[in-house]
Amino acid sequence: IKRIGVLTSGGDAPGMNAAIRSIVRTGLNNKLEMFGIYDGYLGLYENRIIQLKYSNVSNMINRGGTFLGSARFPEFHNHNIRTIAIKNIKNLKIDALIIIGGDGSYLGAKKITELGIPCISLPGTIDNDIFGTDYTIGYFTALETIIEAIDRLRDTSLSHQRISIVEVMGRFCGDLTLSAAIAGGCEFIVLPNMIFKKELLLKEIQIAIKKGKKHAIIAITECICDVEQLAKYIEYNTNRETRATILGHIQRGGAPVAYDRILASKMGNYAISKILKGYGGQCIGIKNEKIIHYDIDVATKNKKKKFQYNLLKIAKELY
Ligand code: ATP
Repeated sequence: IKRIGVLTSGGDAPGMNAAIRSIVRTGLNNKLEMFGIYDGYLGLYENRIIQLKYSNVSNMINRGGTFLGSARFPEFHNHNIRTIAIKNIKNLKIDALIIIGGDGSYLGAKKITELGIPCISLPGTIDNDIFGTDYTIGYFTALETIIEAIDRLRDTSLSHQRISIVEVMGRFCGDLTLSAAIAGGCEFIVLPNMIFKKELLLKEIQIAIKKGKKHAIIAITECICDVEQLAKYIEYNTNRETRATILGHIQRGGAPVAYDRILASKMGNYAISKILKGYGGQCIGIKNEKIIHYDIDVATKNKKKKFQYNLLKIAKELY
């Protein structure tokens, strides 16, 4: 193995730059030639690939987003498109790839490995929805951003005795919402792992109001319901001003927190060591604070992460 390429794919996440930096510097220090591919699998297909030196990753550790750019490129499902991408890699004599992204990107990495270029994937997504790893790069930064937003909403909803609904990212994984709700002291939590009935939520709110609650914050994961409609429904039935806030892409931005920078640095460094040992079709994770590797199939086929019922129990006891 002499030449390694790195790309970021899917939704961006804070800490991706720190991961690229770690991969590039570890590679260069192991006498490898390092290449960066712009805009994920799209750039691979379009042959937008540059050689990366030490200085290309200088002053990157603290920067959010990904300087290589990221893209969603559904055409990569097509075998012929992938064949062109593989040709581009082979023309540059790149021997292996490191792919930073979510579980969709893992599927692409698996297919490239099957076409003869070994790939190792790093979990880069704020959603923390990848099976087999306790945490993903970007999760803790997003969590801090959400908590800051909830704190601000608390100030204003307290002043106006308002009910605030906060929609949090995470797709079908409630980790971000649950942790943010505990850290932000939210009164109500709605997660993808629960059966959601707006009537039951309303009942809980009405009981809380009867007990003297002056305001409330409801944390809810995206893709569960239309939060604007939910706000109208609660306002109508409680006679309390109710507002929905969709945090949206704000959750993806910002400088990575220390944990994400360190996690990215460790995982990038570990990925190079595994590639040098000839591994492919693997992904990197962290389990009980130890960096591990495991088959990409394990991550993609067991899609659902174990839900942290113990945390939910704590949250409920803190209402
Ligand atoms: P996030 O968790 O932030 O959404 P992700 O990596 O899961 O990140 P996706 O859009 O699902 O994001 O996947 C990123 C890219 O990976 C896709 O745009 C596509 O190029 C590639 N990809 C996804 N699934 C496959 C697949 N089955 N085969 C080949 N390539 C795929």
